[in-house]
Amino acid sequence: MAALKHRRTALERVEKFLSDTYFTDCNLRGRLFGDRCPLASLSCFQTPRRIPYDEAVRQEFRPAQVGDSFGPTWQTCWFKVELSIPPEWAGREVHFVWESDGEGMVWRDAQPIQGLTKEGEKNSYILTRTLKKSEPHSLTLYVELACNGLFGAGKGSMIAPPDPDRRFTLSKAELVVFNRDVYELLVDLEVLLDMARLLGEESQRSFQALYTANQMVNVCDVADPSTFPAARGLAAAVFGQRNGESQHTVHALGHCHIDSAWLWPYEETIRKCARSWATVLGLMECNPELIFACSQAQQLEWVRSWYPGLYARIQDFVAKGQFVPVGGTWVEMDGNLPSGESMVRQFLQGQRFFQQQFGHTCSEFWLPDTFGYSAQLPQLMRGCGIRRFLTQKLSWNLVNSFPHHTFFWEGIDGSRVLTHFPPGDSYGMQGRVEEVLKTVKNNKDKGRVNHSAFLFGFGDGGGGPTQKMLDRMKRMNDTDGLPRVQISTPDQLFSVLEQESSQLCTWVGELFLELHNGTYTTQAQIKKGNRECERILHDVEVLSSLAVAQASAFQYPASQLQHLWRLLLLNQFHDVLPGSCIQLVVEDALQYYTEIRRAGARLQEEAVQALCRELLQPQAGSAQSSLVLNTLPWERTEVICRTGPDGRDTLALVTVPSMGYALVREPLLPPQPVTVRKQEDGSITMENGVISVCLDMMGHLTSLQLVGSQRESVPAGCYANQFALFDDVPLYWDAWDVMDYHLETRKPVRRLLKPLEVSLAGGLRGSASFSLQVGEGSSLTQEVILDASCPYLRFLTQVEWKEAHKFLKVEFPVRVRSTNATYEIQFGHLQRPTHWNTSWDWARFELSLLQVWAHKWVDLSEHGFGVALLNDCKYGASAHGNVLSLSLLRAPKSPDATADIGHHQFTYAVMPHLGSFQDAGVIQRAYDLNFPLHVVPASCAQCPAWSAFSVSSPAVVLEAVKQAEDRPGALLVRLYEAHGSTVDAWLQTSFSVQEAMLCDLLEQPTAEGHLPLEQQGVRLSFTPFRVLSVLLVLRQ
Ligand SMILES: [Zn+2]
Repeated sequence: MAALKHRRTALERVEKFLSDTYFTDCNLRGRLFGDRCPLASLSCFQTPRRIPYDEAVRQEFRPAQVGDSFGPTWQTCWFKVELSIPPEWAGREVHFVWESDGEGMVWRDAQPIQGLTKEGEKNSYILTRTLKKSEPHSLTLYVELACNGLFGAGKGSMIAPPDPDRRFTLSKAELVVFNRDVYELLVDLEVLLDMARLLGEESQRSFQALYTANQMVNVCDVADPSTFPAARGLAAAVFGQRNGESQHTVHALGHCHIDSAWLWPYEETIRKCARSWATVLGLMECNPELIFACSQAQQLEWVRSWYPGLYARIQDFVAKGQFVPVGGTWVEMDGNLPSGESMVRQFLQGQRFFQQQFGHTCSEFWLPDTFGYSAQLPQLMRGCGIRRFLTQKLSWNLVNSFPHHTFFWEGIDGSRVLTHFPPGDSYGMQGRVEEVLKTVKNNKDKGRVNHSAFLFGFGDGGGGPTQKMLDRMKRMNDTDGLPRVQISTPDQLFSVLEQESSQLCTWVGELFLELHNGTYTTQAQIKKGNRECERILHDVEVLSSLAVAQASAFQYPASQLQHLWRLLLLNQFHDVLPGSCIQLVVEDALQYYTEIRRAGARLQEEAVQALCRELLQPQAGSAQSSLVLNTLPWERTEVICRTGPDGRDTLALVTVPSMGYALVREPLLPPQPVTVRKQEDGSITMENGVISVCLDMMGHLTSLQLVGSQRESVPAGCYANQFALFDDVPLYWDAWDVMDYHLETRKPVRRLLKPLEVSLAGGLRGSASFSLQVGEGSSLTQEVILDASCPYLRFLTQVEWKEAHKFLKVEFPVRVRSTNATYEIQFGHLQRPTHWNTSWDWARFELSLLQVWAHKWVDLSEHGFGVALLNDCKYGASAHGNVLSLSLLRAPKSPDATADIGHHQFTYAVMPHLGSFQDAGVIQRAYDLNFPLHVVPASCAQCPAWSAFSVSSPAVVLEAVKQAEDRPGALLVRLYEAHGSTVDAWLQTSFSVQEAMLCDLLEQPTAEGHLPLEQQGVRLSFTPFRVLSVLLVLRQ
């Protein structure tokens, strides 16, 4: 019957028909479930540990009931569920319904079968689709209930520290008849209602959808299911009206972002993976079209070792092409702070795992949730067999909207990868009309590409896709007025983007996230652990490689190194290394660093013993001497500290060849000793013939001169090494964000606890110390050290930190005028402006006033002169105008209320230089600061200095030396061009090399392959920032 319809009343009429709040006594939603039946019995046992099933079921279970609560936080309750389906439910679909605040897992026949998580809309487990007489009506299930929610247990807000005393209530546990026909009709009506609402009053389709939905309500008698097919037919007619050829295609990929640790510890993540993936396998069994993209080799490895049955099922679905491993990395790591070599290992460990477990490597890099992306990543991806990249986090930018969703991203060396940001700005879509419309509307590359990705499934805490998400999207498959929505694999998506790529734009340089910039500083111990353990593993690999090549009996510790690397790589996860995790995670992370330090020290000692056995063995009559080892690829002359036979530490100036060692008996005499003088006004001057410095009583650096040129670095009237404290209260993301307005709260640190005093009088080393009070409760002690022959001044710093929402930095105003500062990144460096003109400048580069990230050094240079700031464990720095600053400590309170409270030790250094930073060797000196020489007591008095490797060009850094994967007779060396220049270099080695081959980062020989061996070694050609890996097959 034709009737006048009021848009609003028609819309609301349909809404009420679907409401789970209003009119459920007479609406369709009220009919979703039929009869109910309580469980036959329910019992439970509780444990503070996360234990395996076999152990759990052997425990004594006590009676439990619905309404009981369990806890506290992080406990686990195992429930034994005995159920008996009433025979009169024959032919019906029966669900086991379970509602609780904690995350549950159903176990059936000793296998994890499905997650039950309220926040992930998973409250029921389907016992049977159609109850048959022949199937068992009684069975026993177990439910493993974690006393934490999908997002942990934050007290008061999601990111607040966990409430240790939370209780978790079981609010429902029963059997219920599920009316599938009602459900299907509800989904039809929901999609039509959304079309009606969202396509808008100017759209013909909106009214068609609305009138159809209205008519369906007319047709439908909720008490009479025989009326449902007619209603469904009306909906099918609308969904069946096809699009034209030009319509946008949304490629839906099932996904489940699982943070490897965040608001819950690593151990809980293992169970999150099992819950989420068991659920998705169940969905795949019922929906053979479902594709699920799964990243992070570490998580698969966890499930492999903890849930072998589930893992075997995953392998089957990988073989079927439904469960698709993506990413290629060990974890979804932080995109800024890991070193170049760490990033290579993320791919090496990841891709090798995927190859071994599933027979192929990943062809997409997948990092949807990381806080910015290094400009070196395109080259690293390409070197690991990856040309495609998916992320979306830049949609969080505070100021500037990133101009593309599909584009080529070009790194600092010129490598390019096809990059896609799902335009819906989320990796946790739910398959709603609103989201697919946003995906099309938001797409910034309209007219260039007509395809985009749509990642659906609950994420962050796990959860993954649901049947309802799939059912919504089935209705949008090809419906006029909506984009086409098809389930695709990542390969299908990127293949069509590649076909359409001729019109795409290119973005050059880093993908900088204008948010979360506090993560370069938060949790300083984690940052320090990362830098230190990167160094330890570097040194162990170098020394073990030399030992293998030198002493054939030595066994390269390949499996121990793999284990230690994997711990380090795990801690580089994008909520751990950035410091945005809870205290439990910090404790785990620090524990892993301790393990790396301990095992690394042992492995290093074993390698040194094997390498230098004769030199270390006590020999009758030989005098005590020291063996000094250098793991860096250039000769170094430095002051070392060695322990004499009397147990006393003495200093010595030594020269050690590149990647080699020297035996030191009689130390060198410095060309000029360090002089230290206290002046009448309490200030202290130090000079070593290279630089001369003056420090005032407060420890300020009032003068820093290059002796040769008399060039002064500190502007008149300014203080360098000036500490400043800022109020640090972000808008919400406490551990993550540092806001622009914090700069307006700057307070120079001026309270002296102990004035500057000479600590070492000079000679090989001079130093002076002082102490300051910082804020209300913190103190800082510094020893300012100048070594003979050293071109930089070192600041060994101890802080007792007891602040709340404060940010400590140290500032160096310098007499340099430049519009750009240079920052070290992975295998290279880049420039960022020291001023701002545009909003992009403002964001990225006034953020560079807040802090931007850098690795071992930052440099501000004008023609002919510059000043560099080096550090041994800091990642936040800034250069604004002529002031270089290093971010030292923060004190956020969420999600870890204890973050950074306690003792800290770190070192930074200032290095003035003539010429460019490249020519002045800033890069090398920053390595020197980070990789101290190793000093071992020796007995042999005579031994020529020995070098295993050297490189002919100062532009080229030999970064890594390791045993080749799967090839015990070969070494893998990795070098990169560090100056930003095109250069040829000779790699020389004292080992007997049989064959040399260029290979990719996965250690596969490349097409250029074979390298001729010549007198001078192997000749290598570099373009700016090029990374080269060379396989050296040793002559046995
Ligand atoms: Zn994440």
